[in-house]
Amino acid sequence: MIVLVVNCGSSSFKYQLLDMESGGGGGRLLCSGLVERIGEGQSPLAHKKYLPDGETRSVKLEEGCADHREAFRAVLAVLMHPDHGVIERVDEIKAVGHRVVQGGEAMRRACVVGEAEKAVIARLADMAPLHNPANLQGIEVAQAFCPRAPSVAVFDTEFYADMPAKAFRYAIPEKFYTDLGIRRYGFHGTSHKFVSRQAALTLGRPLKDLNLITCHLGNGCSLTAIQGGVGVDTSMGFTPLAGTIMGTRCGDVDPAVVPFLVSKGYAAAEVDRLLNKESGLKALCGLNDMRDVHSAKEKGDPKAQLAFEMLCYSIRRQIGALWACLGRVDALAFTAGIGENDPDVRRASLEGLESWGVLLDLEKNKIRSPEPRVISREESSVKALVVPTNEELEIARATMEVLEK
Ligand code: AMP
Repeated sequence: MIVLVVNCGSSSFKYQLLDMESGGGGGRLLCSGLVERIGEGQSPLAHKKYLPDGETRSVKLEEGCADHREAFRAVLAVLMHPDHGVIERVDEIKAVGHRVVQGGEAMRRACVVGEAEKAVIARLADMAPLHNPANLQGIEVAQAFCPRAPSVAVFDTEFYADMPAKAFRYAIPEKFYTDLGIRRYGFHGTSHKFVSRQAALTLGRPLKDLNLITCHLGNGCSLTAIQGGVGVDTSMGFTPLAGTIMGTRCGDVDPAVVPFLVSKGYAAAEVDRLLNKESGLKALCGLNDMRDVHSAKEKGDPKAQLAFEMLCYSIRRQIGALWACLGRVDALAFTAGIGENDPDVRRASLEGLESWGVLLDLEKNKIRSPEPRVISREESSVKALVVPTNEELEIARATMEVLEK
């Protein structure tokens, strides 16, 4: 069964086409790609086709996509292209799985999206203004172009639907929770879920028996405490601004900083921008890409050195907090751009945790591989892993599960 997975940003359209086996977790990737700069005149479309022999074929096209509708049309054209594509007709796509960032308390599980669900996703846009409107646009265009394929929404927040109240409530007056929905939601849930399943497979142990801390370290960073496959706590909060330092996001700061800045004449929108776009690594050293931070650090830039140290310290702090919540930890798993590729961040984030039972194997930690792998020593009582994430495959699996129900 062919499933199209769609992840729409405000000016981007990311997709994967997968051939999914029913009843199983497996799926074969057929094509993937990204349209960028939608609405900006020229919109590059980078498309990759995966051949059965393991080879790939890439093509870069220049499209002029004024909106997501035109982007979807361009994507369908390339998917049906005689050389670059793999399908001949749109109706070969049997379902479309959509990443939706904020499901709130109303949307606790992945679901087929009809008019009522779209209204809820739209209503939740005030809590995820950068994401939900774009995610909804993806759903609208998919329903217009693939009317026979059900659209399934898979929420980033879903993995945290079973967090206990003691973990998700904030100690502010209850009406702000009941009336405005202010609580901890958690994000990157699709990635944490995928990584937890892969970690269990890599360890050769049932997920239901494991206590895990998964560390999704990319442009956005979040850590999750997972007990028996259930996300029981997260470093993130009401929005994806909380927790560790990130590329341009501040992570945890005293909330009193906000009214203090307002009292100094900053408008709410300016403070929002400051904390989301001008903070984190970028504020500390002027660079938000971790590779650039390393280059600057190696040239002796003290600000880049401090940014690196602060990032790793903030990760270690979150590991400590989640560890205390779980009580016992069987394994820590690193994923996403930094977590999968940066041995220095992994080493520095685990520094000092030897007495807690995490014994990193420094050689294994340096090995580069696209495969899930153990990077702790044999005698380490708590295992450390690197697990490449695959949010699209997880969305396709969730889509299949919803439709099979
Ligand atoms: P993501 O959001 O998962 O795409 O991750 C993006 C982050 O991963 C950026 O900060 C990149 O600098 C970082 N990243 C990607 N590749 C590497 C690498 N080889 N070494 C260090 N950081 C990397």
